[in-house]
Formats: sequence, C-alpha cells, structure tokens
Amino acid sequence: MEKIFNLGDIVIMKKPHACGENNWKIVRVGVDIKIKCMNCGREVMMDRLEFMKKLKKVLGEENEEKKY
Ligand SMILES: [Zn+2]
Repeated sequence: MEKIFNLGDIVIMKKPHACGENNWKIVRVGVDIKIKCMNCGREVMMDRLEFMKKLKKVLGEENEEKKY
C-alpha cells in the first residue's frame, strides 16, 4: 500500500523519537525526506525508501491534528 504524504503533514513513525514523542512534521520532501519531532524540534533526514519503511501513519495537515 502506497502511503501519500505531503510537505507539512504530521506523521507517526513505527518507532517514537528518543524523547518519547511520536508526532513528526514533514519539513522537506525531495530525494530525502526530512521530518521534525513535534516535541523537541529535532530534525531527522532519511531517504524516501527508509522513510516509507519507518512510516506508520500519515495524520495529515498540522491543523487537523494539532496537539500543541
Ligand atoms: Zn523528540
């Protein structure tokens, strides 16, 4: 199943960040995908394939599922 994601979407990964947060915002989409932890703001960059493997769920745009 192909997961659709867009720049600015909030996503949940299979593994939470070290800080305990598991909501990430997509801040860059290209050859590499960059996501930002919604709790601590740490950015993680990975290639598309790795991102698709680690991606669990796309929540959509930030305003739909805003936590903070
Ligand atoms: Zn974090």
